[in-house]
Amino acid sequence: MPNQPFYAQGLRFSCVRCSVCCRYESGFVFLSEKDVLVLAKAVQMGYNDFIETYCRWVPTAFGAARLSLKETPEYDCIFWKAGCLVYQARPLQCRAFPFWKSILASSNAWKSASASCPGMGKGTLFMRDEIESWLHAQTADPVITKKI
Ligand code: SF4
Repeated sequence: MPNQPFYAQGLRFSCVRCSVCCRYESGFVFLSEKDVLVLAKAVQMGYNDFIETYCRWVPTAFGAARLSLKETPEYDCIFWKAGCLVYQARPLQCRAFPFWKSILASSNAWKSASASCPGMGKGTLFMRDEIESWLHAQTADPVITKKI
C-alpha cells in the first residue's frame, strides 16, 4: 500500500540485556525536563546538582547544546555498573529504544541499527500504533536545549 511506513506490519524487539547500547562506545543519552526530574529524584539530588554531577552539554551544529548524561572514560554510561543503576528511572531515550525517529526513518536505518543490537528483529512484536506512540512520546517530551 502506498505511504505505509516500513514498520506498518509491526517490528520485533526484545532486549537481550547485552548492554551494548549502554556502554563500550562513545554516545549520548539526551535528557528531557521530565527525565532530569525523575532521575534527580531517584538519586536523591536537586535538579541543578544532578545536572552538574551527571550531565554534559553537547554542542549542535546550530549554536545550541543539548543535555546528555556523562559517560565514563571507558565510554560506559555514567549509570552503568553491572547493569543500569537507575533502570526504573531511566530516560525516555533508553525506554524508547529502538523506536527512535532516526532508526524508524527507513528500513535501511533499522537494518543498520540491528547490526549492533542482537534484540532487534526478534522476540516481541510491536504493532504500528505502539511504535508510533513511542515516537509521539519523544516529540512530546523534547530534549533540553540551550543556546551557547
Ligand atoms: S541510563 Fe541506564 S539504560 Fe540508559 S544508557 Fe545509562 S545505563 Fe543504559
